[in-house]
Amino acid sequence: MNSNINEAYLEKIFSRYYVVDPPKNIIVLDKPAVSVRGSSMSVFRGLAPKWRNDIIVITPQGNDETLLHEAFHAQFGAGESAARVVGKLLVVKTRFIDRSNFISSRFRGRTVNYQRCPGCELEKELDKTLLIISPPDSNPIHYKLV
Ligand SMILES: [Zn+2]
Repeated sequence: MNSNINEAYLEKIFSRYYVVDPPKNIIVLDKPAVSVRGSSMSVFRGLAPKWRNDIIVITPQGNDETLLHEAFHAQFGAGESAARVVGKLLVVKTRFIDRSNFISSRFRGRTVNYQRCPGCELEKELDKTLLIISPPDSNPIHYKLV
């Protein structure tokens, strides 16, 4: 269960820098997302659907770096390696800022607000897609940028 990822966590991550825009929709899965192809199985930390650039999905295996990585994918449609580099750089920057009162007092960031969605069409659409990779008894939570 990704209980550490809530509105406050998302707001904290995406208010820290300007390189990546906060995604309009963030789906937080409570079960692992797995893809099986023949004899190989992939476990995802996060996903950015190719057909929509306003959605990212984070799984229980994901963390702050995953959020940035997928947000970068969604925004720029970048290749995997570019997104990985950017995710790491941004996380390093965020952690550095966390440790330094001097810098964080000068680095105000931007205001980012997320709200938990009570249920919408997007979730029904995603349900069909995520059924492929997430078990049917999962209970994804949708956060909207407001
Ligand atoms: Zn929704």
